[in-house]
Amino acid sequence: MATYAFGHKIPDSDSIVGAISIAYLKNQLGEEVIPARQGDISAETQFILDKFDAKLPELVTSVAGHNVYIVDSTDKIHFQDDIDEATILGIFDHHKLGDLTTSTPLEMWVRPIGCSNTVIKEVYDYHGVDIPKDIAGMMMCAILSDTVIFKSPTCTKVDTKAVKELSTICGISDYKKLAMDMFIAKSQVNGASARELNKRDYKAFDMNGSKVGINQLEMVDISVLDARKAELLADMKAMKEEEGLHTVITLLTDIMLEGSQLLMVSDDESKIETAFDVKLENSQVWLKGVLSRKKQIIPFLQPQF
Ligand code: MG
Ligand code: MG
Ligand code: MG
Repeated sequence: MATYAFGHKIPDSDSIVGAISIAYLKNQLGEEVIPARQGDISAETQFILDKFDAKLPELVTSVAGHNVYIVDSTDKIHFQDDIDEATILGIFDHHKLGDLTTSTPLEMWVRPIGCSNTVIKEVYDYHGVDIPKDIAGMMMCAILSDTVIFKSPTCTKVDTKAVKELSTICGISDYKKLAMDMFIAKSQVNGASARELNKRDYKAFDMNGSKVGINQLEMVDISVLDARKAELLADMKAMKEEEGLHTVITLLTDIMLEGSQLLMVSDDESKIETAFDVKLENSQVWLKGVLSRKKQIIPFLQPQF
């Protein structure tokens, strides 16, 4: 029986770095924990691992009988099919509370702040454990990614303070430049199929019995996808049928313009029109100021179901 630390399916940088940072912390506290992941990593996460010369966490798709630490979600749908047969020792998250439950007491750090790695930074501070330079650099990048370089409404003073402290530890003072390079790596779409783009940062949600899939592409310039929107929508339609979804959304988030072009295929378009008080045209609409799926999309969409 091993103890693993991992984040959600279709891992983002917060999930991968969180697995690494939690495993290191626990190891320092005398517990043997292996950093893990549930799937392939993104170009952004590869950029971070390369930059700090870090090892790719182990792929773990079954956890029955193991102990686990969970990062960056508490929705059962985001974890291994046999997650109920694992023992959850702890949770480090910054999302709405999901439907994971436990049969034993656990450690739980859930805060309404910008990034799980900010939560984890607080746990390091709580235990008085020094963060190594490379892990500090990766945690800093994860926070800059999740908070969209502090632009996201999910970003708090705790996050900006954590980035400043981590930048001192890792010795990178121009962290905004590093973050831009990271987002440029994340924005690469050349050679990617419509399905790859529609699944790049995809999460499924159970909304009162209806399955809703929401994907988000955070880019420095979404106009590079202008010519591919029809292709993306056609693929979303196919995804909807294959996976029995009520609604499929892809958010093309422009981090420079600070808004999102929402593309949607749904059994009921009026749900999104009501949620955001907008009219869809050709299955899409520009949502000014919308950067955060968790704070600006889910809380408005969920009550429609
Ligand atoms: Mg995440
Ligand atoms: Mg996160
Ligand atoms: Mg994100």
